[in-house]
Amino acid sequence: MRKPTRRTETGRGERVVPGAWRLRLPLPLAGVPHCNAWALAWGDGIVLVDCGMATRGSLRDLERALEQVGLALEDVRLLVCTHAHIDHCGQAVSVQERSGCELWIHPRHEHLTDALDDRDAALARRIEIARQSGVPEAPLREWAERRREQGTGMSGPLRPARDLLPGVVVETDLGTWDVYETPGHAPSHVVLHQPQGRLLISGDHVLGRVSLYFDHGWTPDPVGEFLASLDVVERLDVRLTLAGHARPFTDLVGHVQGNRALVRERLESVTAAVRARGEATAFELLPDVYGERLAPETAAWLLTKMLCYLEHLELGGALLRAEADPVRWRPA
Ligand SMILES: [Zn+2]
Ligand SMILES: [Zn+2]
Repeated sequence: MRKPTRRTETGRGERVVPGAWRLRLPLPLAGVPHCNAWALAWGDGIVLVDCGMATRGSLRDLERALEQVGLALEDVRLLVCTHAHIDHCGQAVSVQERSGCELWIHPRHEHLTDALDDRDAALARRIEIARQSGVPEAPLREWAERRREQGTGMSGPLRPARDLLPGVVVETDLGTWDVYETPGHAPSHVVLHQPQGRLLISGDHVLGRVSLYFDHGWTPDPVGEFLASLDVVERLDVRLTLAGHARPFTDLVGHVQGNRALVRERLESVTAAVRARGEATAFELLPDVYGERLAPETAAWLLTKMLCYLEHLELGGALLRAEADPVRWRPA
């Protein structure tokens, strides 16, 4: 999907508030240079929230980030993942092997684990969806070839000990963290809220720089679910948000509003593009909505988002799907 880039950085650790450390881990993904894991003091050890993607040298990066703040992998007493994307749970098995800790994650992780159980079938399914969306044969074959050569980004199959659902609390020295389901970005997404410290670990649900992504094909309306999940976090009392990528930020409500505005803008531009063309495939609409940013590395990612927008507009009654092959969209 995204082209691998050369590693130029190593893991880095820094304290964000007493008892909480940001572990910044490099990623080999174009446009996504690093992700964050969070170490939270707990008794004689730590709770680790997220753990980065498994690639060559990635466990060393996590160790180095921990060492910089006086911690070690062996200190991990519990691993909690905000969602089942490889940059957040990829190293789970390695962390568990080193520390003996349990993994807690939301049970709806099949969007990752089904694809890992049968990679050929998952790839075939994605190719078929792309073909039905009007992606031409040649670039599709090239993309599939690249995907086949890529690693999984996982150090092993997930072995969760507990379902991370509302009602489950994560105990730390900072106090207990409550779990809120926030599907949309991924069906398995949750955020963790610490009410006394007014802290939020937001995963990829709300990022410092507004950037949207939705997993397609696992739930009826990822865009609608994402909007409802924005309402969920907007109601929480939050002073500092610790997001899955980039620096912590303070203005959560402003970021929620920014996300809502961008979704609205995208939905309007998709609707306008369909109206202007009269009828179009999802693939034909990509340059209308995303313009110059359409590159081979990002096309698959943008197509996924486009399908989510189209299906959301179909559910809302604004667009109709013509059951042709490839599928064509037109105004209702
Ligand atoms: Zn994610
Ligand atoms: Zn992420």
